[in-house]
Amino acid sequence: MNTDFIPFARPELGREEEEAVLRVLRSGWITTASEAKAFEEEFARYVGAPYALAVNSATAGLHLGLEALGVGPGDRVITTPYTFAATAEVIRYLGADPLFVDIEPGGFHIDPGGIEKALEQARAEKTKIKAILPVHIGGEARGMDKIIALARGFGVSVVEDAAHAFPSLTREGYAGTLGDIGVYSFYATKTITTGEGGMVVTSSAETAKRVSIMRLHGIDREVWNRYTAKDASWRYAVVEAGFKYNMPDLAAAIGRVQLGRAREFLDRRKAIARRYLAAFADRDYLSLPEDSEGHAWHLFLLRVNEEKLRITRDEFIDRLREKGIGTSVHFIPLHIHPYYEKRYGFKPMDFPAAFRTYRRVISLPVYSAMSAGDIGRVIDAVISLGDSGRRT
Ligand SMILES: *Cc1c(COP(=O)(O)O)cnc(C)c1O
Repeated sequence: MNTDFIPFARPELGREEEEAVLRVLRSGWITTASEAKAFEEEFARYVGAPYALAVNSATAGLHLGLEALGVGPGDRVITTPYTFAATAEVIRYLGADPLFVDIEPGGFHIDPGGIEKALEQARAEKTKIKAILPVHIGGEARGMDKIIALARGFGVSVVEDAAHAFPSLTREGYAGTLGDIGVYSFYATKTITTGEGGMVVTSSAETAKRVSIMRLHGIDREVWNRYTAKDASWRYAVVEAGFKYNMPDLAAAIGRVQLGRAREFLDRRKAIARRYLAAFADRDYLSLPEDSEGHAWHLFLLRVNEEKLRITRDEFIDRLREKGIGTSVHFIPLHIHPYYEKRYGFKPMDFPAAFRTYRRVISLPVYSAMSAGDIGRVIDAVISLGDSGRRT
């Protein structure tokens, strides 16, 4: 029996990525230039977005997206507590505050009914809500038609945290292109990777211009080009105190190769998820994610039903580790982290659905580099643990 440890996540990188990096290294130009531009064009074409802007992380992209919408001190941005730190910290970067809306009971996504209540209450209290920031958790966009309709009705923007959701094709288009701005992550564990990196997509020329200026020191080259007949390459104008969020060509070259393999990776993740779903279907101590249309399967969010088991979720994770299976928990909800708890005085049950889901959830490995043997070992480990720990 193979007892090598199966990590929770591992990127799939091969010869093509190596050659792409070498090509850039040997070119003598390793920071942002033609590779980043080509990656943007290819990515925009892939998802069908008029504009795509490469950045050095999704966190940077979310920050730039909200900045472009004019989010500032005193504003609120509606988002979910059931997410990674990045989603809400970018709201704080701008001096605004997150307005957390709980997820749907028994689910993982922000509850559109809760968003509507929050928007109505904010209107009554004259609180300024600038945007709704839903998270396509695990790679699944849900409730977007309702969220977009609410946003239009209340005159706020929609920024999609699509860090998990490339490539998730919904009936309305790719997740990330459904709202006003979408942001993807190419962090090492995500569905395609550049090591660190992200992409902002939008259909607004104005937003694209602002993001493009703010991601590189607030420099607007067109300001000079407008006044000079000759486009002197040393001239530039700083029009804002911008950021340093550009994606280097070294990363972009990897991204271009990964983009070309995205469909193949997705097919393999989908096949793994379907094997899990079939294998666990009749185990009453497990709750399974839905095989919904367009699911990108970045995460396989399994939930254990502790009332049916003699072991807790935490013990389940420990025992899987002993059996050589790496897992993770997505997510420890933000409202129980010290920063948010202190700043807003939150209690765990202020967002009961988020808290309850967090207590039951385990993310199983689901990545294209898994072998058939790895998948079988994960299935056997989960079933043998669950069956032997089942209350009778
Ligand atoms: C990973 C992640 C991010 C941040 O992505 P980076 O590219 O690492 O900045 C944002 N939101 C969610 C939900 C994530 O999981």
